[in-house]
Amino acid sequence: MPSTDPELPPLRDVIARYGLGARKSLGQHFLLDLNLTARVARAAGDLERGTVIEVGPGPGGLTRGLLAAGAHRVIAIEKDARCLSALGDLALAYPGRLEIIAGDALRIDAASLGAPPRRIVANLPYNVATPLLVRWLESIAQTPDSFACLVLMFQKEVADRLVAVPRTKAYGRLSILTQWLCEVRPLFDVPARAFTPPPKVTSSVVGLWPRPTPLAPARLETLARVTAAAFGQRRKMLRQSLKSLGVDVGPLIAAAEVPETARAEELDVASFCAMARALDDTAS
Ligand code: SAM
Repeated sequence: MPSTDPELPPLRDVIARYGLGARKSLGQHFLLDLNLTARVARAAGDLERGTVIEVGPGPGGLTRGLLAAGAHRVIAIEKDARCLSALGDLALAYPGRLEIIAGDALRIDAASLGAPPRRIVANLPYNVATPLLVRWLESIAQTPDSFACLVLMFQKEVADRLVAVPRTKAYGRLSILTQWLCEVRPLFDVPARAFTPPPKVTSSVVGLWPRPTPLAPARLETLARVTAAAFGQRRKMLRQSLKSLGVDVGPLIAAAEVPETARAEELDVASFCAMARALDDTAS
């Protein structure tokens, strides 16, 4: 960690100076409590090697936390052009350590940014948090060491889905795809009042550590198809819900070694992988 951090104006002054009133359409809820942003940054471990990728730095609260925690290099992707001047000031205060990309993170391949190990740390815009995560999971499925870890703030309801275990209401497609590829740990909740403006719901920080190899063999595309079919009608028995796949579902359910009367939420990740492999076998 650097011994001295530059003197920076309070974030509220930065927001006022650059007219960064929060826009709902961009999921803007800013964290102005620097103790909290430091806590999120610390959760990502050693930031002194490789690259930290931050999505949606906004006025730069979490970015400050990352730099103060010793991040050697931060690449921050921000869609809102209004924030770029404030972020430019921050880049000047930490010479050579902060690069800003003006653009839509959904269109940028984070796995090709900067030098590894790459860590994504972000207070995600809620309206695109799930598509962003799915995109990063696709990179991990292709190349497990795309990212060393991801420390991400979600709406608590989404965070609960990521860590959910079978036979619970939150367990579903996102739980399976995420846990198949990553070790997932709930880290801490952040109350709505910590944000400016406060969102309607509690938020949660979740840590994802990509596994060197997925939990069980399968193709992501097929696993996504099987889980979409099974949870598309989660109250129905598998023999019914899987019909939308348009194949004989008997061999799939047999591969999972569960009764045909089982429901999607009763199956663990390995069973879904077995069904995905069986589906690929029927197609070949
Ligand atoms: N990191 C800041 C903080 O913690 O205070 C802001 C977090 S705010 C929840 C989400 C940020 O993501 C906003 O700055 C918003 O402009 C930005 N954003 C929204 N959609 C985006 C996208 N598709 N790509 C990049 N940034 C985006």
